[in-house]
Amino acid sequence: MPAVVNDVRGVLLDIEGTTTPMDFVHTTLFNYAKENVGHFLKEYALRKDILKIVDDLSKMYLSDASVSSDCPGWDGSSTDKKLESAARYCIWLIDRDSKASALKELEGYIWREGYSSGDLRGSVYEDVPGALKKWKDSGKKIYIFSSGSVLSQKLLFGTTEYGDMTRYIEGYFDTSVGKKADRRSYETISDASGIPAHNFLFLSDAPAEINAAVSARFSGILVSRETGSSNAGYSKNTISNFTEIILP
Ligand SMILES: [Mg+2]
Repeated sequence: MPAVVNDVRGVLLDIEGTTTPMDFVHTTLFNYAKENVGHFLKEYALRKDILKIVDDLSKMYLSDASVSSDCPGWDGSSTDKKLESAARYCIWLIDRDSKASALKELEGYIWREGYSSGDLRGSVYEDVPGALKKWKDSGKKIYIFSSGSVLSQKLLFGTTEYGDMTRYIEGYFDTSVGKKADRRSYETISDASGIPAHNFLFLSDAPAEINAAVSARFSGILVSRETGSSNAGYSKNTISNFTEIILP
């Protein structure tokens, strides 16, 4: 069903399940991070930002290990053992779809290596490039809001099979502005971009995120691309791809 939304100046996009197949994030990217985290940590162990991440992970580990019996062990008896423990713990976190900032930052660095070596390439649904171009050409500003780090968002859109799509995108937000199902995150994004909430359209495959954006006075459209996506009970504005969106 076509969805017409008036007075839109900014379009805010979720990535997973909205611009990009779930499988790309959950299989391709997550597997790449799991396969490479061990040697990445060893190779860059002396880098200040990596030291900080390992330190953050070791603190997070203590609280996870105290409540989760399946949490892998941690051996801090030598630098090598500590890095191996951090890598094991990261794999455990990835398997739980953790959104922890230290993990997301580390994943961003690992993926950057993969994208620049050509092992990884960003993936978007085929209707996405045309829609973004059309919206940008008509003066709309396009933003991304995803739980992946800003770095990994830029890498994804910079390396798609349709070329470098970052030229369509005005700005990027990750969970440093807040959770995706929290109304305040959308208020922060509206303030940061200078576009009033009522002139923003948010597109996502997650009803809880749409509801949060709508309660911040954004317009919201649910993107239901894949069968079995979690939109049960959501009957308001729903589309199956971006060509159904009309922004006069
Ligand atoms: Mg999503």
